[in-house]
Formats: sequence, structure tokens, C-alpha cells
Amino acid sequence: MAAKGKLTVGLAGNPNSGKSTIFNNLTGAHQHVGNYPGVTVEKKEGKIVYKDYEITFVDLPGTYSLSAHSEDEIVARDFIIKEKPDIVVHIVDASNLERNLYLYTQLQELEVPVILAMNMSDVVEKRGSKINYAGISRLLGKLVIPTVGNKNKGMDELLNAVIDLHEGKIRIEKIGVDYGEEVKSEFDKVTAGIKKMPDVPKGYPLGWLGIKLLENDSWVTGFIAQLHGGPAILLEAEKSRTHLKKHFSDDPEVIIADRRYGFISGVCTEAQTRSPEERHDLSDKIDKVVLNRFLGLPIFALVMYAIFKFTFTFSEPVVGWFETFFEKAGELAAKVIPEGLTQSFVVDGLIGGVGGVLGFFPLVLFMFFAIAFFEDSGYMARAAFVMDRIMHKFGLHGKSFLPMMISTNGCAVPGIMASRTLDNKKDRLITMMVTPFMICGAKLPIFALFIGAFFAQEQGANMMFLMYALSVAIAFGSAWILKKSVFKGETSHFVMELPPYRIPTIQGLLLKMWERGWLYLKKAGTIILLISIIIWAGFTFPQRETKEGEGKEVAAAVQMEQSFAGRIGKFVEPAVRPLGMDWRGGVALMAGVTAKEVVVSTMGTIYSLGEVDPEEAEPLKEALQKDPSWSPLKAFAFLMFCLIYLPCFVAMAVFYRESGPSLEWTLFLIFWTTVMAWVASFIVYQGGRLLGFGG
Ligand code: GDP
Ligand code: MG
Repeated sequence: MAAKGKLTVGLAGNPNSGKSTIFNNLTGAHQHVGNYPGVTVEKKEGKIVYKDYEITFVDLPGTYSLSAHSEDEIVARDFIIKEKPDIVVHIVDASNLERNLYLYTQLQELEVPVILAMNMSDVVEKRGSKINYAGISRLLGKLVIPTVGNKNKGMDELLNAVIDLHEGKIRIEKIGVDYGEEVKSEFDKVTAGIKKMPDVPKGYPLGWLGIKLLENDSWVTGFIAQLHGGPAILLEAEKSRTHLKKHFSDDPEVIIADRRYGFISGVCTEAQTRSPEERHDLSDKIDKVVLNRFLGLPIFALVMYAIFKFTFTFSEPVVGWFETFFEKAGELAAKVIPEGLTQSFVVDGLIGGVGGVLGFFPLVLFMFFAIAFFEDSGYMARAAFVMDRIMHKFGLHGKSFLPMMISTNGCAVPGIMASRTLDNKKDRLITMMVTPFMICGAKLPIFALFIGAFFAQEQGANMMFLMYALSVAIAFGSAWILKKSVFKGETSHFVMELPPYRIPTIQGLLLKMWERGWLYLKKAGTIILLISIIIWAGFTFPQRETKEGEGKEVAAAVQMEQSFAGRIGKFVEPAVRPLGMDWRGGVALMAGVTAKEVVVSTMGTIYSLGEVDPEEAEPLKEALQKDPSWSPLKAFAFLMFCLIYLPCFVAMAVFYRESGPSLEWTLFLIFWTTVMAWVASFIVYQGGRLLGFGG
């Protein structure tokens, strides 16, 4: 039978409403991931054939609203207006009906046929609450389908609803928010004006444009302004806004939002029977404590501490196995491969270098798992809320937390890109400037290595906590300095949405852990591997003849010092000597600019090459411990430098692009971080010596 036609269906919804889950259920493996033109927002599409229709589903970015506050919101509404999907399925988290329906009030103004999928209906039931889905359907004049995304329930019903609606077997009504007499009459004036425009913007729903003008939506005003006759309309709208402001003694956008919430609240009261427990919702109770003015921050610190404690306690033995594995692999390779360049390449270059980084893979996994737990439970959103208050004092924007959080244990590259959500250019630059100070996944092995080598095992979690606390302090401190000097100006506030608490699922956590862990592995197997080979070659060439009567140990040391890399190290040594480092530290730090893990792999190669008998390789940690030229104080000063100095190449390239592109700002970043790193490391080392912590 021939296909009856093609349908495009957009999936809209709040973040965490289960949109992607349902998208995956509906489309299975037939997905295509691209980008919306000009932005980093991901565009996921999937095609299926159902009842002779070819249906294309588009997973729109998760948003709470459809104003012009963020790129996500603009992308979502642009898609609906410009690509005109036949139907939009609004995925509603039914367990959080009031907040989720806000988006609905805006969707229906876009005049696109909407179907509501009441997802998480299992959670509603479990709470002992009831939602009268038929009631909502009647009140909103729309199709309402209860679903349970993660159990794949309700998908056929949803598909059938799409087809039925499209075939006109079911009618939907337009029941919109009642904005009240006063707003309505101004709205009528503005829309009448738009209608009379010589080139009426085609394809844009008239009512939507009208309400957006009253709301002073930055995108819509900008859009109208450049149309023929636009400025006159804007003048008219401004008059209306002034009138409303006088009448309500409040901004029209606030009044409009109030009306929307009023509408929703009416719908919810009629259609929702809440269980007594829910009225004093558990989430609210937890929030009373977690968001408390005085307790909020200590609790956040405690959570972070718990993450490190968990990571260190449980990863310790597994990291040990990995170390032993690479140690044995090195010994085996030394036995099998005859002495010479090939042996050195495999033992010192590959196993010594990449092995050092891979050794920390379990630690990274444990850390990712612990962090995913707090993310999925809903706590991290609270942390952002708690931090927002403090961040303002330091001239950062509440939204800066997200880029910093993404960078922490993740990567500064998406972190820097995430700062796009900040509207103000100054706020954005400051955020981009301090985001690389966070301890990303690549810096993690450096800290794990040196803390493991120079501090007692019980101290591991404490030291790690200290380093993270320092990273935050440095980021905040430098934001404050930047705000006071280079970027003077106001920081804007923003409203944060708090999702309800949820017990994370094990599969969800494992998946997240694996997704991020896999990136770590992939990087170690590709870029780190490549750089390790280059570093190994740098230390191995030019080859030098062993002198008569010279011991093996001396020969190895002299070879390294006189190699290309060694000479570079010697050249920078004077600059790092006051920080307690010798040329080896200098080389490792310089190499680390390519990727931060390379600091570890370079150390691995250096110590492996220095090893007299490759068949008795020892883990890098032990080699460092035995080296008398290190001390806990020196290790700490070294970590201080690693914490602050230049982001890696890729991060710098992205910074360059996102800052304008601006070469000046990029050079400023390089200068600023290098100077700060040197000064901080100097203070730690020299200060520590003065205080008698050894040399
Ligand atoms: P998105 O941000 O809207 O794309 O949300 P996701 O699809 O990533 O889902 C967020 C979380 O909710 C995931 O852990 C899902 O497994 C879970 N989830 C999705 N649908 C349901 C549901 O109907 N009931 C419950 N209990 N969990 C769900
Ligand atoms: Mg999603």
C-alpha cells in the first residue's frame, strides 16, 4: 500500500521530562543527530513508518518556557514557527504538573496542534495522587495521553493520537489563557497594528507576535523593528506597555506570566487530587534544609566531600590492580622484546606514558558515578541555586555555575561553550575566563597521581577536597578581580528551576558513568597515545653513545638531559626552579598544554626511561616516592601550578572562537593564567619553606 503521507512531529518539554526517553522509544535506532544551523544546540531526528505514514520525530531542546532567554528556547520556538511541524507532542512531567504546563501555555499560542503526553504517570500513582486526564483534556481542549517513558508505556496510544489528529478524526479546541480585559484591549490594539503592516510577517502567528510585543520579548521586538512599518508598531506596543504598567503598577510581562500561572493553577486544581503527603511535598521538605541560608553551603561542601571520599575509598584497590597490570605488562614487554629502541618505545613510551593515564581509569569511573548520582537525584540543580547567591558576590552570574560544573571532572571545552547561555557579553567572558580553572577530567589523574604518591592514604580524599575547594576559590577570586578591573558592570539575576528529587536508576547512573568514562578512554587511546610517542621520541633523540666506564644509571640520566626534550626542559628550568621544580617538571608542564593528562604520561615516560632495568619496572607512583628530588611540599606547589596554568590547546581554541573570536582575549587568558599559576605556586613553595615544611 502506498504511503499516505509524511508527518513531522516535534517533541517539546521541560528538561528531564523524559523527552529523550520517549523519542528513543518511538524512533528506536533510526536517529540522526545534527546541529541547528549557527548554534551548538543538538538536533536529533528520527524517522519511522507507522500506519502507512512516514513520521519524522524531532527532539526539541528541553525548555521551561519559550521566551528569548536562551538559545535553547529560541531554537525550540524557531523550529515550530519556521519548520511548521504538523503536530507538537508536549511531553509533560505529570508529577510536576504546574511547572510543566507553563510551557504549554506558550506552545498553544504558536498555533500548532498540540498533543499532551502526561509522562511520569507512574510517579504520580506511586505518590498516591490522582490526575484526571480526561478532565485536563476537557479543560484544555486537547488530547491527553498518559505515558511511562522508561517502561515504554503509552507509545502506541501516542502514535495513534498523532494519526487520528492528523486525519481529523479528533478535533481539538483552542482554549487559551485569559489575560483579562485590560491586557486584552492593549493586545487587540497591537495585533490590529501588525495586521495593517505593509509586509505582515508571514508564517508568524499573529496572536503570538502581539503577546510577545507586550512582553517586550527581545527577539520579537528586534524582528519587528527591521520590518517595513515595524518601528511604528513598536511605538504602539510601547504605549500599550506603559499604559499597562500604570494600570497594574507592575511590568506587563509579570502580569502576563501571572495570568498564565493562574490559568494553570486553575486547571491543576480541577484535575489533580493530591495525596496528603504530596501537599507537604517531600521535595519541599528536603529543600527547606538543603537550600537553607546557613546550611546550604555546608551541605554542598559535605556532598562534594562525600563524592571524594566515595571515589578514593572504593577506587583505591582497583587502581592498584590497574597499576600492577601495567607494571606486569611492562615487565613482560621488556622480557619479550630485545633491548633497544623498540623495547624502549613499547616499555617507556607506550606503557610508561599511556599506562600512567589509564591507571587512573577506575578512579575516574568512580568519580563519574558519584557525580551522576547527585545530578540525577536533582541535587546538583540545588547546588546551583545555593551557589548562585555566593556567585553574585563575586561578580559571577548564577548561570556561570553550569559551565563551571560541566568543566569540573568533565571538560572545559563544553564548559566554555555552555557559557553561551549567558546573555551579557561581559558575564560570558568572565565565565569563560574562569571555567578552565576548574579541575577537569584530564587534570584529575595529575592530582590522583601526586596525592597518591606524597600524601598518606587517609589524607587522599581530604587533599582532593582541598584541591577542588582551591579551584573554586581561585575561579571566584579571579572573577572578582576581573569584575573589579577589566569587566566593570552589573551582573543580572536569573530564576532557576528546581526539578523534583528523584531516586536515580542504576542503569541511568551506569550509562552516564560509561559515556563520560568512554571519552576518557578514547582520549587516552588516541591523542594521549600520539603525544606520548612524540614525548618519548623527544627524550630518546638525539641518541648518544654510552661512554666507557659510565654506569647504566648515569648514561640514562645524561641521555635524557641531552635529548631534545631535556634541552627544552633545561632551558625553562630557571623559570620553574623557584617553584621547587627541576627541568623534568618544566617539560611535563609544557607538554601538558597539549592535553592535561600528558603531564602524567610525560612523567611516566621520564621515570620509565630512567629505570635501569626495565624488567623491574615499578609503578610511577612508587618511582616518584623514591625520587629524593620531590617532597610533599614540592608536589603541592606543582599541583598548584597544574591547577591554574593555561588550559589545554583545544580549550584555548574554543575560547578563541567563543570570545569573538578575539585574539586579544585569548592572549590575555594565556598571560593571566600563567602569571597566576606561577605566583600561586611560588607562594606555596617558598611560603612552605619559610614555615619549615621542608624543601
Ligand atoms: P529529557 O531531559 O526530557 O530528555 O529526559 P530524559 O529522557 O533524559 O529522562 C530523564 C529521566 O527520567 C531518565 O532517568 C528517564 O529514565 C526517566 N524517565 C523517563 N520517563 C519516565 C517515566 O515515565 N517514569 C519515570 N519514573 N521515569 C522516567
Ligand atoms: Mg534529553
